[in-house]
Amino acid sequence: MNSWQKNKKVVVNYNKALENPIFKIISKAAQELGIETFVIGGFVRDFLLERDFKKDIDIVAIGSGIELALKVSELLPNKPKVQIFKTYGTAMLRFQEIDIEFVGARKESYHFESRNPVVENGTLKDDQNRRDFTINALAFSLNEKNYGDLVDPFNGLEDLENKIIRTPLDADITFSDDPLRMMRAIRFATQLNFTIEEKSLASISKNCERINIISGERIVDELNKILSTEKPSIGFILLYQTGLLDLILPELTALNQVEEIEGHTHKNNFYHTLEVVDNICPNTDDVWLRWAALLHDIGKAPTKKFNKKQGWTFHGHEFLGGKMVKKIFERLHMPLNHKLKYVSKLVMLSSRPIVLSQDIVTDSAVRRLLFDAGEDIEDLMILCEADITTKNPNKFKKYHNNFKIVRQKIVEVEERDHVRNFQPPISGEEIMTIFNLKPSREIGVLKEAIKEAILEGEIPNEYDAAYTFMLKKAKKLGLQTLKN
Ligand code: ATP
Ligand code: MG
Repeated sequence: MNSWQKNKKVVVNYNKALENPIFKIISKAAQELGIETFVIGGFVRDFLLERDFKKDIDIVAIGSGIELALKVSELLPNKPKVQIFKTYGTAMLRFQEIDIEFVGARKESYHFESRNPVVENGTLKDDQNRRDFTINALAFSLNEKNYGDLVDPFNGLEDLENKIIRTPLDADITFSDDPLRMMRAIRFATQLNFTIEEKSLASISKNCERINIISGERIVDELNKILSTEKPSIGFILLYQTGLLDLILPELTALNQVEEIEGHTHKNNFYHTLEVVDNICPNTDDVWLRWAALLHDIGKAPTKKFNKKQGWTFHGHEFLGGKMVKKIFERLHMPLNHKLKYVSKLVMLSSRPIVLSQDIVTDSAVRRLLFDAGEDIEDLMILCEADITTKNPNKFKKYHNNFKIVRQKIVEVEERDHVRNFQPPISGEEIMTIFNLKPSREIGVLKEAIKEAILEGEIPNEYDAAYTFMLKKAKKLGLQTLKN
């Protein structure tokens, strides 16, 4: 029994980890092929941490992973399809909704320019050496002679106990070989609330520039995982401290400053942003709303100005921020579809409810907000409520109360005026028919005037009212209906 087990005062029965019948079948398949096999990585780590099982299992074969997968499939009653990835020497099959990945144990060596290693067959130890962290190198034997034994060459169990992320080999080599591991270290530290061991952390700082050889997609995968944790600020502070954030999202690190002119300071918008992201997290599992929170103030660094009358201003930062979102999405190869539109829109609208709540909440201001936010009004309100990071309890209460009033008003106005999914009550085609017009500027003018009248509350959002209003407006423009 090792110290970890003693401290926990429970004898961990590893066989419990291997209750799923698939393990005995893998064991039997390996025996028939005359090779050894182990379950390794995330499955073992998460079992020992008593974390929820995440539906994928990694199997390492001391031999061909592909052959083992094919053999396992043969032994299973429904003979599931085996997906083979020849270039990587891996194979996958699904069993009871679980993805089971098979890989042959390997020894890797890297070139400086690339994170794609030269791969040779290796022993279990070779394979564990190439793993990213000690806690991810833990393996359970699936071999008859020592079924269920833990193979832990780097004291990963102790690191689990002490909540430490540490590379199995020299950290500089591990991170320089595959710089994605730097992001993974920070992601695991955030997910598990672990500390990155001192030498490993120093090595990330030293090697941070190597992140430049990693594709945007892979970086974003890790950022999304950080953003999906309880407290993403843990990860973003580590990314900042190691120099990685400046290379990935310099727009964010630009917010990390407080300037003072003539005794006027402004708040540190980097740490404010991280608070907003943390505030969002318990309320949503939508990673895109979290992206909106992360980027909602990025326009503040380039728009910052000081003048004697107003002190520090950030005029137009929401609009510029919305545009900057697009550049970031392009640079990091993020989806350029409705996700981009959504994040950009929320950033552009991120101050509107606040401005609204500071004044008397008028119906027309609420109608305009509803019109602009459309389906995303609820997310915008969540973002704005998360944006309240004042430490003054009176202000905190006041702002939240104001938002309650805005929310109430939104319900009232929407019930009455239905502008959330605004459809013009009179279509362009209809306007053309009524006034016998070819496509022309006048149609746009009329449509816009009707919309404005509805948003301003001059007329209700109804066909008859809009029709009467349109006739009056048309008369002023000198247009005649067919009937006249
Ligand atoms: P999760 O599935 O929760 O993200 P995981 O540990 O299972 O965690 P995977 O990305 O599924 O992570 O990888 C499975 C295993 O493969 C890891 O536990 C680790 O041993 C190894 N691994 C994955 N990526 C790397 C890498 N870039 N460098 C070294 N080893 C890696
Ligand atoms: Mg996994």
